[in-house]
Amino acid sequence: MTEPLWTLDDAAAAMGGRVVADASAPRDLSGISIDTRTLKVGDLFFAIRGEARDGHDFVHDALARGAGAAVVAEERVGDLTDAGPVIAVPSRGEDGVLAAMQGLAVAARARTGARVLAVTGSVGKTGTKEALRHVLAAQGATHASVASYNNHWGVPLTLSRMPASSAFGVFEVGMNHAGEIAPLTRLVRPEIAIVTTVEPVHIEHFRSLSGIADAKGEIFSGLEPGGVAIINRDNPNFERLKAHALASRAGRIVSFGEHREADVRAERIVMRPDLSIVDVRAMGQAVTYQLGTPGRHTALNSLAVVAAVQALGADLALAALSLAQLRPPAGRGARTMLRIGDGEALLVDESYNANPASIRAALSTLAGVETAGRRIAVLGDMMELGTDAPALHRDLAAAIEEHGIDLVLTAGPLMQELFEALPASRRAAARPSSAELVDPLLDLLRSGDAVVVKGSNSTRMGRIVEALKARY
Ligand code: ATP
Ligand code: MG
Repeated sequence: MTEPLWTLDDAAAAMGGRVVADASAPRDLSGISIDTRTLKVGDLFFAIRGEARDGHDFVHDALARGAGAAVVAEERVGDLTDAGPVIAVPSRGEDGVLAAMQGLAVAARARTGARVLAVTGSVGKTGTKEALRHVLAAQGATHASVASYNNHWGVPLTLSRMPASSAFGVFEVGMNHAGEIAPLTRLVRPEIAIVTTVEPVHIEHFRSLSGIADAKGEIFSGLEPGGVAIINRDNPNFERLKAHALASRAGRIVSFGEHREADVRAERIVMRPDLSIVDVRAMGQAVTYQLGTPGRHTALNSLAVVAAVQALGADLALAALSLAQLRPPAGRGARTMLRIGDGEALLVDESYNANPASIRAALSTLAGVETAGRRIAVLGDMMELGTDAPALHRDLAAAIEEHGIDLVLTAGPLMQELFEALPASRRAAARPSSAELVDPLLDLLRSGDAVVVKGSNSTRMGRIVEALKARY
């Protein structure tokens, strides 16, 4: 029998809650859930209040599906006594159940001996987190955030789920506004904190890029004493981030990038269609590895992984071997060969989200692909860019030229701005939505072409990827 994640009594004590359960109720809890659709038997279900719904309305359902117990607000216990075992928690502030999950997160962090890492940045958090998960899992039991669970509920959820016996914990930490990262990093208490990069993402909530850098720099305020701050040396905001690290309890700052002063420096990146070869000088030590995720940006993110492995004192040679086996997370560069007649076309699925930095990275990756046919970019609107949005879309025209993209198809009114800024020879089709772009793309695609699909999540560019895969 494996160790339970929590016992009912330990969980209740950590949250300052009261157990309301029959003596016969099972005491062991094997997981944490906030969503009955993905709940597993034995989970502790938290009745979190979301924007549209209140988790308390799902407590009966959760317990009927086999939840070990449910965490509910004290004032709601009355309606739920017949449902099954519950832990009643006081209503602190507006959401006592969320506060209780944070309490459990604090207890999870306190009880583990795991080496804990936190990753933030404007782009590349999930990619870097997944690379760290992959590399560290070869060296010890590794617990990491699911998907992009990086906010006020995602971080405490991930912490509460961490088995006490983990050797490594890898946490993605994100934000939309200033001040959001500080409380999260204080929950995580990382020994190593990474800032991948600072770019104009969520710029509508900020006055400037340096404001974004300051918000990312909050990550260092949660560092354990003597911890390590890992910072992108190539980023124009390096000095600003470094100042945040110096103001924290960091014992050491490690920089990474192509910059000649970077502590972990890429000396050479050779890009092949489906992998990269990276020569690195890491604090004076030479390492070369193949990287199973193509693209210059993933090679640069991998330097942060190398820096973290070295700072942990983990096995760098083994990590270098692991990186060759790495595959891109869904929608972030996965490649598929589409069979078209007797030939093939390459599909690069970058449909997970978009902002100016990640679109440029995707165009640069497409430029690096060897192809006998045309390079085709299928682009959907970038969201959350505030009043500069039209200009930030038009500005991509230069990157289209620079990277020799032959044809552009756009979905949405903002990308229409880009479309109109392009020379006629590169314009293929512009439509109001991604659904309407499927047919024009299917009509023009030929054997030998290479296509990249990208756009903000709400533009649902993923359905273009699905349509192509279904057709070919
Ligand atoms: P989110 O805030 O949505 O959780 P994230 O920071 O977790 O995003 P990823 O999911 O890793 O970021 O990557 C998002 C997109 O950015 C992908 O298209 C990826 O290819 C691209 N990307 C990743 N790293 C970089 C980088 N260093 N520079 C530019 N683009 C990048
Ligand atoms: Mg993410």
